Amino acid sequence: MRESPPGSPHLSQRPDAPPGPRSASPHVLVADDDPLATGALAWLLREQGYQVTSVSERRHLIEALERARPDLLLVDVENIGPEDEQLLERVRRDERWRDVPIVVATALPSNGRSSTPLVPPRVADDYVTKPFRVPELLARIHTQLRAQSELRSARAALAAARAELARAREDVASNRQIVDILHEVTGELSAMEIYRILARRVSRALALSRCSVVLASAGDAVGNVVASFEDSGTPNLEIRLDRYPEIVAALETQRPVLVRDVQSDPLFEQTRKLWIEEGRDVPIHSVAVLPFSIDRWRSGVLVLRTERHERDLTHDDVEFAETVVNAAVAAVKRAQTLESTRADNRRLEALATTDPLTRLLNRRALLERLSREVDRAKRYESMLTLLLLDIDHFKRINDERGHLVGDGVLRQIGALVDASVRTVDIAARYGGEEFVLILPETSQDGGVIFAERIRESIERYPFDASSEEPLHLTASIGVATFPSPRVESTEDLFARADEALYRAKSSGRNQVRT
Ligand code: GH3
Ligand code: MG
Ligand code: MG
Repeated sequence: MRESPPGSPHLSQRPDAPPGPRSASPHVLVADDDPLATGALAWLLREQGYQVTSVSERRHLIEALERARPDLLLVDVENIGPEDEQLLERVRRDERWRDVPIVVATALPSNGRSSTPLVPPRVADDYVTKPFRVPELLARIHTQLRAQSELRSARAALAAARAELARAREDVASNRQIVDILHEVTGELSAMEIYRILARRVSRALALSRCSVVLASAGDAVGNVVASFEDSGTPNLEIRLDRYPEIVAALETQRPVLVRDVQSDPLFEQTRKLWIEEGRDVPIHSVAVLPFSIDRWRSGVLVLRTERHERDLTHDDVEFAETVVNAAVAAVKRAQTLESTRADNRRLEALATTDPLTRLLNRRALLERLSREVDRAKRYESMLTLLLLDIDHFKRINDERGHLVGDGVLRQIGALVDASVRTVDIAARYGGEEFVLILPETSQDGGVIFAERIRESIERYPFDASSEEPLHLTASIGVATFPSPRVESTEDLFARADEALYRAKSSGRNQVRT
């Protein structure tokens, strides 16, 4: 020190000399056993633009490090001894000063040169021997600070990369979960099943002990818990919404509500008072509520909760749940559209194939079914029998009792026919007051027996029972069987049945003919 009086070292004149400390001036802690020398070193460093703190007693070094949190420690000792080395080793091992370089200035021992470094690396990052040249000391300090700053930014970059990687992993995990949930939800499920899946999957994905779906609209006094995933939950339970300010808020704003701590959040002020008044110890800690609406009549919320001693719910949880809820709502809508389309189709299909008066198959549907049955009989080499039934003297009924009574009779005959067939049989109104029955797997004899039964039941049946005088009717039935001689197609079958019916009519009606 004495040999190197403070001055202006003009470091910038050295070609490899760095231009000294920049914007955020590094902080150097100077430890010196000689207070006088410390003052001089501190002055020199301040001249160079460093911030400087000094400590002159070894026993205060740790404390000074804690307080000053320097970027570099400069130790100036006349002769470095075992005690200094131990102390510096301790500093180096301490996590808190892991990145603080240590530079030692010390004199060569009087016993001369040694092949080992004067100050070993476990003690310091670099050293200069005394008496030192100021430019050399400053250059070493600068080099250490630059290395430290590089190390720090490398560490920060590494930490950022790790965080990014963790985030990406989480994203993948949560996306995969969303995809999984959607996969389950987009199958053909009812809205109720979707709500249940939603509650179960969201609670599982976010590791929540409580998660439920409550159906309600803004302004409602009660909500309906339609799905619930919690230890004590009972689905299909009505809840009074004035007890749930978070649900009310979400329904009113139609935006997610996140309450990290119900014990301190202003939203729960009234509710907390109520809990106290009623002496209830409600173990809820965090709540998140996601509103959804399927249509004008059906809306509700997904409620996520954690209990006391469990974690805080966060915006990430809300974001995840929101994505899942939106997807589930889309799935419910899709399921409903699909359902109503199917219902419409079924209605249309029914309209297209049934006779509106008797609800039996109409002529078009009958012909379709018949050709299918004939194909089947051909394929399996089985037989089928067709009955053509025509009401006897039906015109009279219309004439005597009116068309409406006639219609009523047709309806009753339809019901009689329908009630007498097996499930495999096909009954249809062929037109006017003519009915057709297709009896698969039935021979001509079997068909005749069946036809007789129907003929008898019509003969016995008191039609138009509301009138003073019930009507008594009869019917004639023609029977034809496939396959049989001259019967190779549906046309043949109809023609033969028609011929048989004609025979029945001409032989006096109220009979079965083949
Ligand atoms: P037959 O014993 O020879 O069969 O005598 P029928 O009077 O039944 O004669 P036909 O079968 O030729 O006439 C059928 C009549 O059934 C003609 C029509 O007035 C009546 N009819 C046809 N469709 C309907 C209907 O939908 N409602 C009513 N009320 N009457 C119908
Ligand atoms: Mg007729
Ligand atoms: Mg008739």
